[in-house]
Amino acid sequence: MKKVHVFNAGPCLLPQQALDNAIEAIKDFKGTGVSVLCISHRTKEWDEVMDETRALWKELLHIPEDYEVVFLGGGASLQFLMVAMNYLEKKAAYLDTGVWAKKALKEAKAFGDAYAIASSADKNYSYIPKGFEIPTDIDYLHITTNNTIYGTEIREDLDSPVPVIADMSSDILSRPVDVSKYELIYGGVQKNAGPAGAAFVIIKKDTLGKVSRYIPTMLDYKVHVEKESMFNTPPVFTILVMNETLKWLKSIGGVEAIDKINEQKAQLLYDEIDRNPLFVGTAAKEDRSRMNVPFVMAPGYEDLQDEFLAFSKEKGMVGLKGHRSVGGFRASLYNACSVEDVQALVDCMKEFEALKK
Ligand SMILES: *Cc1c(COP(=O)(O)O)cnc(C)c1O
Repeated sequence: MKKVHVFNAGPCLLPQQALDNAIEAIKDFKGTGVSVLCISHRTKEWDEVMDETRALWKELLHIPEDYEVVFLGGGASLQFLMVAMNYLEKKAAYLDTGVWAKKALKEAKAFGDAYAIASSADKNYSYIPKGFEIPTDIDYLHITTNNTIYGTEIREDLDSPVPVIADMSSDILSRPVDVSKYELIYGGVQKNAGPAGAAFVIIKKDTLGKVSRYIPTMLDYKVHVEKESMFNTPPVFTILVMNETLKWLKSIGGVEAIDKINEQKAQLLYDEIDRNPLFVGTAAKEDRSRMNVPFVMAPGYEDLQDEFLAFSKEKGMVGLKGHRSVGGFRASLYNACSVEDVQALVDCMKEFEALKK
């Protein structure tokens, strides 16, 4: 296979060990002689995978006893709706930090008085709004901890007088989180925890069943908690690859170990962006994400954009093209991306600089 460095924004790069084990399971699931793609999900062997996957989430994130984790179809986008349907009785505040936050807010508006408490739309979401006061008369505050498109991140667990619900799609499992500070945490699996096809939802159990509206069965968190994510056929293969990805994460020392590596990777790339006169970062320095690093050509060098993209491609870089709403480049440094991958990108930027100066 061609040697490449993958910086895709999602679905993410997955650890080779997880991919190899998944390939094995496609051929023969746990020595049953049947491919995992063809097994019944009502078997002891599959129950073991579900139990182990749940246990790994709880272990890796030190999830307290009174929380449960479920895996659901529909991605993070369906969670925008499910969160509001299950928790919004009257009023909820949303921190508007980007397109995903806005989409979450849009869904919530169907269920009550949902509004943006603060927004960074004025500067194309290049920073995290600060200094806003959280009102006490709301059902919850919704935040998006990592803004995948704009490369901003809230890494501190907020102290809030009301329950906090967080979309952690693109920074879950990249750093320690104090789960007890949240009522619910959700995200698409495909940004850091596995392949596309499911969402994870970490739920404080005693917060369920409090809204007065009728909730259709498939949209009711209570049902999925009670049925242990097996009310209907779960996304079996996605969960299996997620299981392998979590096992890999545990084997290298868990979230605490990857936290240090992620810091090192982000530092390496941001240092180069700040040093290299050809490039400039687009996110406010104090809010820079460690997972998604957007940057553009510096003023005066704008016409070199396509050339750098072609140059980096030649050097084996994959997925560097920036999101259309920010332009330029974006390197996503999810867990499976290594320090060596980032070093290769930094070397590539240096080489390009030498060529052009
Ligand atoms: C990708 C992403 C989503 C959407 O996820 P889907 O699983 O595709 O619905 C939502 N929020 C954030 C922060 C994301 O990065």
